[in-house]
Amino acid sequence: MADLLTIEEAQQLILERVRPLGMEKLALEESEGRVLAKAAKAVVDLPPFPSSAMDGFAVRSADTPGQLPVVFRIAAGLPAPRSLDDGEAMGIATGGVVPEGADAVIPVEYVVEDDNVVRIPDPAPAGANVRPRGSDAAAGDAVLEAGVRLGPAQLGALAAAGAGEVVCATRPRAAVLSTGTELRAPGETLGPGEVYEANGLILAAQLRSAGALPERLAAVADDEETHRVALERGLEADVLVTSGGVSVGPHDLVRRIEAELGVEEVFWRVAVKPGKPVSFGLRAPTLVFGLPGNPVSSLVCFELFVRPAVLALQGLADPLPRFEPGRLAAAVKRNQGRDQLVRARTRRGDSDAVALEPLAGQESHMIVRAAAADALVLVPRGEGELPAGAAVAYLRLG
Ligand code: AMP
Ligand code: MG
Repeated sequence: MADLLTIEEAQQLILERVRPLGMEKLALEESEGRVLAKAAKAVVDLPPFPSSAMDGFAVRSADTPGQLPVVFRIAAGLPAPRSLDDGEAMGIATGGVVPEGADAVIPVEYVVEDDNVVRIPDPAPAGANVRPRGSDAAAGDAVLEAGVRLGPAQLGALAAAGAGEVVCATRPRAAVLSTGTELRAPGETLGPGEVYEANGLILAAQLRSAGALPERLAAVADDEETHRVALERGLEADVLVTSGGVSVGPHDLVRRIEAELGVEEVFWRVAVKPGKPVSFGLRAPTLVFGLPGNPVSSLVCFELFVRPAVLALQGLADPLPRFEPGRLAAAVKRNQGRDQLVRARTRRGDSDAVALEPLAGQESHMIVRAAAADALVLVPRGEGELPAGAAVAYLRLG
């Protein structure tokens, strides 16, 4: 098995061939989950004015401690009509404009107010509880750089900075094709030898979570002509992901028919368990992934090989899966020739490290067992076993 590619080599071969797609201008409202194709700039200073961090009284710090007449009450969105003079205080709400002349806000909890006079017992430093204009971002600054995916905090930052439109990477169109004469849709009655089709749904969900627009083609039987028609259709997309039919059996047709249709194979077979027969090729500009049919193999190969490609198509800065350090909670037998991705549950460890409990039922058809996992633990190939407590890297599953 020395001839098999490593996971990293295969990922490299894929990423070398990805050309980012185009870009489009979108209303901020429509950009959730998208990847910025151009840096987004702040339209205004943020905050746009010196803003009070507290409900309290705006004063000159030089007038504290002291007794000051309250000459106006400032609400959020309702600034004072004039500046603050020596020896004056103005009531102010959180988010109110700190008036010209004031340089501090005394929280309401620290004063005594009586008949429009506020008594401030302690001195306040200049700048206390005042959020300077532009202290979060200045107008014209990049709020976010290109290559960043827009999640909740990023959307909020863009909204707060007044960016009503953003330029995002085009969503990759991804065709999903399940192959296998034995496949039936859930809800139908199984005939002899048939199983329910699971991978189409898994892959469509994974693609969507990676920012692609999946299109599920109808599953095809292991028959050359139906393969040809469906694969040709799938090759119109930016990414074609098939499941099944990439192994060495007489009914495994996907790679052969793809070759006939002009797909240039870049690799077939990787030293990974599950997922060894995974294939990758190109019929430019379409990226073509052949995932093995066992549902867990398909799921794992998507995370290792397809997700990075889909993210890179969108220009994401760092598309490879992010493995994190953890510790095995129980021993795992190594595989001599292939790196394994072991399905596991994460648990807060006694120390700082996340503890990873390998699940019973690690075979590649066991999607029900795998559905209990929230992590894939990388168990490097080798002799013997990795003992309980061993330091490992794991990938969190969405
Ligand atoms: P294959 O990779 O085509 O040899 O399939 C390997 C195993 O995965 C076989 O037991 C198939 O029945 C099963 N399988 C293939 N495709 C699917 C699918 N879409 N959903 C569920 N099981 C599948
Ligand atoms: Mg098959």
